[in-house]
Amino acid sequence: MQYVTLKNGIKMPQLGFGVYQIEKDICERCVLDALQVGYRHIDTAQAYENEEEVGSAVKKSGLARKDVFITSKIFIQNYGYEQTKKAVALSLERLQTDYIDLMLIHQPFGDYYGAWKAFEELYDKGILKSIGVSNFYPDRLVDLCCYSRISPMVNQIETHPLHQQVEAQKWMEKYGVQIEAWAPFGQGRGGLFTNPIIAEIGKKYGKTVAQVMLRWELQRGIVVIPKSTHIERMKENFDVFDFELSAEDMAKMATLDTKVGFSQPPHNTPEGVEKFAQLAAKRKLK
Ligand code: NAD
Repeated sequence: MQYVTLKNGIKMPQLGFGVYQIEKDICERCVLDALQVGYRHIDTAQAYENEEEVGSAVKKSGLARKDVFITSKIFIQNYGYEQTKKAVALSLERLQTDYIDLMLIHQPFGDYYGAWKAFEELYDKGILKSIGVSNFYPDRLVDLCCYSRISPMVNQIETHPLHQQVEAQKWMEKYGVQIEAWAPFGQGRGGLFTNPIIAEIGKKYGKTVAQVMLRWELQRGIVVIPKSTHIERMKENFDVFDFELSAEDMAKMATLDTKVGFSQPPHNTPEGVEKFAQLAAKRKLK
């Protein structure tokens, strides 16, 4: 496994396993499969409603807690200083652990400054080993970096060959924030799994399109958390450390950037803010 070192010295496995949209009834099995394949980093969220199954799988795996890096995220309805402390306590209970390796603010809306104050306090206490954000466009990220006591260690954003986030990554580098890709395959949209340029590159190395996408992201210094419910694909997605894309192939991958994500409307538009306000209104503290 390859690791990145966050600015607080914590080592984070650069390849993890994402559990978004994995139904409760199969999530424990999927996480157990992933841990058996060799993944040691699981990415969940309060909004995925499967923290409990992730926690049970880690327990049942027999692995020491310290050997599995767990990320979760707090959703908008749980922002605000007091509410966030309660919500993190609920995540700890569901994950069946007394600390979380990385906790993220899921979206840059509402009272996320209040949530961040609670994160800072929980970080000081060692309950959250690292703290970060997700879906923060560069302006929101820089704002939080400028006006917080402890600045975020990670920003998890949509990143894949069709939305490469080159500018956003530069801003993260300036502030020492680790970039993490959600949807490293673009959830298969935009014909990514059959893209002829990526397939052609893959042929040269005897690797699949999925493996080339992950390898390209790893070589850009990005943390990746691909999701699959099939153990064969989990293995395929894990088998990306025995080859290296040439500079020429990295440059070919760079030509695929459209600079537009599939997350629509984008978070930094009034419509995007409204969409998430509606989602948050439907949820209670949980
Ligand atoms: P992804 O890009 O990882 O794509 C997953 C899909 O790709 C799978 O459902 C499967 O259909 C397909 N797939 C996986 N491996 C394959 C293979 N080897 N060959 C062919 N097809 C394959 O999409 P994702 O699940 O949305 O993103 C990954 C993780 O990122 C999530 O599980 C979640 O943990 C995180 N995430 C975070 C946010 C956020 O707002 N922070 C949003 C979305 C996802």
